[in-house]
Amino acid sequence: MRDETGRNIRYLRLSVTDRCNLRCLYCMPSEGVNPLSHSDILTFEEILRLVRLATDLGIDRVKVTGGEPLVRRGVVDLIRGLKALPKIDQVTLTTNGALLEEYLPALVDAGTDGVNISIDTLNREVYAKLTGFDDLARVLSSIRRAAEVLPVKLNVVPLEGVNDGELCDLAEMARRDVLAVRFIELMPVGRAERFSYPSSDSVKSAIETCFGSAEPCEERLGNGPAVYYRLENFEGKIGFIRAMSDSFCADCNRVRLTADGRFMPCLGRSDFADAKRVLRDGASDLELTKSLERTIFAKPTRHGFAEGRQKPGRDMHMIGG
Ligand code: SAM
Ligand code: SF4
Repeated sequence: MRDETGRNIRYLRLSVTDRCNLRCLYCMPSEGVNPLSHSDILTFEEILRLVRLATDLGIDRVKVTGGEPLVRRGVVDLIRGLKALPKIDQVTLTTNGALLEEYLPALVDAGTDGVNISIDTLNREVYAKLTGFDDLARVLSSIRRAAEVLPVKLNVVPLEGVNDGELCDLAEMARRDVLAVRFIELMPVGRAERFSYPSSDSVKSAIETCFGSAEPCEERLGNGPAVYYRLENFEGKIGFIRAMSDSFCADCNRVRLTADGRFMPCLGRSDFADAKRVLRDGASDLELTKSLERTIFAKPTRHGFAEGRQKPGRDMHMIGG
């Protein structure tokens, strides 16, 4: 459906858990969190009902995220259930990759259309410092295996003084393999506000210094705000998500459902509809649909990061980046 400003909203980011097996410093407290209790998070049945109703409003693509989605037991069955919804066109997954390799056959069998894998560094020590776990080798192996069976996009969040010396090494992964390496500007959500990040333009310049000029891709790739470029002799592409330096809000096509049932029209705002409460209060399908419809229609015209207020008030693992 179209929101108040005419944007066509068809993409849902679905967070299935706030828990994670890593502790990326910009996303989650290293000392751990008080995870949501089982009764606080939506059951798969509740999720499938909400997504089915959202498909009646025009949602046809779902990205399963978290926290780390693969730590939620049964997530592959949920993906199978999402794929079985008649109006769903595409179901993809965003993962840190640590558990991905063992799940790959089941994910393919369930019909997963692609995976995004987060990898911020290729240096084992930096990886362990940034994520709290010595899992780099497992993630790299997952990336290789996943690229053999599914479309793969890699997510990199450049951080000053952490991984900004390895931008070319990270981009290099798209030279050897048919995959996209996307550089995401850090958004000031929760603890991420403590970090500084290089702009996408400076990341692009650094990569062009190593590999030559990056030419914009004419065709549109993916459902999101990434802008993609080709480099000579690259099998894959590089992409930039200029979350902060460019206002892509005018083209935003997405809404979010958090693990605890908040239906959020914008990542960079605190507004949400409490879909879980409406649902557990016994709402009919029509009442629930109306609640989703009102939230989509009133989607904010732009995120609140620049104003320094009206932010979501949660760390990213609680929202689903
Ligand atoms: N655990 C999974 C993963 O790491 O891919 C899925 C959830 S994670 C929140 C999704 C993506 O959001 C990751 O690529 C992560 O790097 C990114 N992310 C987390 N916090 C962010 C922030 N403040 N700004 C931009 N991206 C962020
Ligand atoms: Fe976990 Fe992903 Fe957040 Fe890292 S970015 S702590 S892997 S949810």
